[in-house]
Amino acid sequence: MAEEVVSRNFIEQEIDKDLKEGVYDHVCTRFPPEPNGYLHIGHAKSILLNYGLAQEYNGTFHMRFDDTNPTKEKMEFVDSIKADIEWLGADWGDNLFFASDYFDAMYECAIKLIKKGKAYICDLTAEEIREYRGTLTEAGKNSPYRDRSVEENLALFEEMRAGGIEDGKRVLRAKIDMASPNINMRDPIIYRVAHMTHHNTGDKWCIYPMYDFAHPIEDAIEKITHSICTLEFEDHRPLYDWVVRECEFENPPRQIEFAKLYLTNVVTGKRYIKKLVEDGIVDGWDDPRLVSIAALRRRGFTPESIKMFVDMCGVSKAQSSVDYAMLEYCIREDLKLKKPRMMAALDPIKLIIDNYPEGETEYLDVANNLENEALGFRKVPFGRELYIERDDFMEEPPKKYFRLFPGNEVRLMHAYFVKCESFEKDENGNVTVVHCTYDPETKQGTGFTGRKVKGTIHWVPAPQAVKAEVRLYENLVDEEKGVYNKEDGSLNLNPNSLEIRTECYLEPSFADAKQGDSFQFVRNGYFCLDEKDSSADHLVFNRIVSLKSSFKLPKK
Ligand code: ATP
Ligand code: MG
Repeated sequence: MAEEVVSRNFIEQEIDKDLKEGVYDHVCTRFPPEPNGYLHIGHAKSILLNYGLAQEYNGTFHMRFDDTNPTKEKMEFVDSIKADIEWLGADWGDNLFFASDYFDAMYECAIKLIKKGKAYICDLTAEEIREYRGTLTEAGKNSPYRDRSVEENLALFEEMRAGGIEDGKRVLRAKIDMASPNINMRDPIIYRVAHMTHHNTGDKWCIYPMYDFAHPIEDAIEKITHSICTLEFEDHRPLYDWVVRECEFENPPRQIEFAKLYLTNVVTGKRYIKKLVEDGIVDGWDDPRLVSIAALRRRGFTPESIKMFVDMCGVSKAQSSVDYAMLEYCIREDLKLKKPRMMAALDPIKLIIDNYPEGETEYLDVANNLENEALGFRKVPFGRELYIERDDFMEEPPKKYFRLFPGNEVRLMHAYFVKCESFEKDENGNVTVVHCTYDPETKQGTGFTGRKVKGTIHWVPAPQAVKAEVRLYENLVDEEKGVYNKEDGSLNLNPNSLEIRTECYLEPSFADAKQGDSFQFVRNGYFCLDEKDSSADHLVFNRIVSLKSSFKLPKK
């Protein structure tokens, strides 16, 4: 076998270097979501990246809820996030943490900074703080409270902690440099007053640490080595380093940034999804048209397909947007050999074989997946009355149409040749029944070579057919117009993103399908039995993806 060329992404290269130079002797990564919404495909990238690195270096992976802001967080999200990460297969073992468990330690760090003369209590209003901060081109100016004594700062901070101060009236700021070219370093706020009940610590605290102060401390306490985050935090890295240094953590973690994953013409923003849910445009956070992890799972995506997708996207510093067709490619690849290929008519019309004996049924042996023998065979009943797809028959066919039309012969998949003799229409001119004759000599598997036909169509035996509802999805967004309306910033929705077919007929083997099971419907696509709305007496299938692909694998 040819030697595999292993290319290391830039994060792996940094970690290799740190290990080689002895900066760290192990690798510990984390995924730190704020429990304020559901996870989406972008988060999956971050989860699999962090978990994958821990695996690769035989290190440790931590799951940590960054629950330091009581205003937006909910326990409902903690549970959904855990379920999503477990489903993706990122196993945190015993390493489940909550940032709010470190409030005491963070408070101690604040005291330490005050004692070192590195933090002060500021009484400027929010408005004034903004004015004093300066701009990208102008330096800020010092707060008049900047030179308070250590004793005074300690006393005032204690007053804040004890509850004597109103929300917004006073803050603790790091004393760094109001003239720094990096605005994040201009004496950032590190603690604020918020009289709120926290879901974990209750009413113990009425002061809460700011993200830029809390996050490095959380990482340092857990002895994270590589704190991997997205690019918007690059400018915050000097502050991250300042916090771990001034709080005197030994062997502190280092932050490394990578570019977020964006999908072209797909809505991922929490704010927009929340609005779609609230306006009833989608059926909750797990509506199969969304790309939250819960939605992808419900639609029928697999953890393997998402991992394949994330791997194909790679890790980079350059912002870019990936085509949804690549995600579709990954799920097709993953399901191709794993799932049985069965027959379903999604827009059914009757086909009657006039010369087939009435009342007779034969059972055909059909391979579940011709490309994977391990999936075995099933029996499919065949008889005089079948369902076929409406568009597999045409009264007046165009050139190169090889399916059924008067006088033409096709193969019924796994069965016989049939020839169209006539058809029936209803009062609206819609075809209702196609009449055929079959040739018993042409049975599949008997080695018939007498003549050839150009078309093969699938079918479902009518008396034994299972009825189902099938939901066909398209992009939620109008791709021609793009995601956002240029005038008012609203979403450009595709009115046809959901098509419900209530009268579909499936071969009888589907009767045993369980919620979450997926199948290939031959010639149609991959479908998954909906985990929410499907029941034994009312089957509901979601189309995961059609069989046609516009995606081409990039050349290596
Ligand atoms: P917000 O900050 O707007 O609430 P968020 O999506 O950043 O939303 P977090 O809970 O802060 O939510 O994210 C958790 C982790 O997931 C962070 O480390 C963040 O960098 C990462 N992350 C978020 N969105 C993406 C994305 N599109 N691609 C890759 N990683 C992402
Ligand atoms: Mg965030």
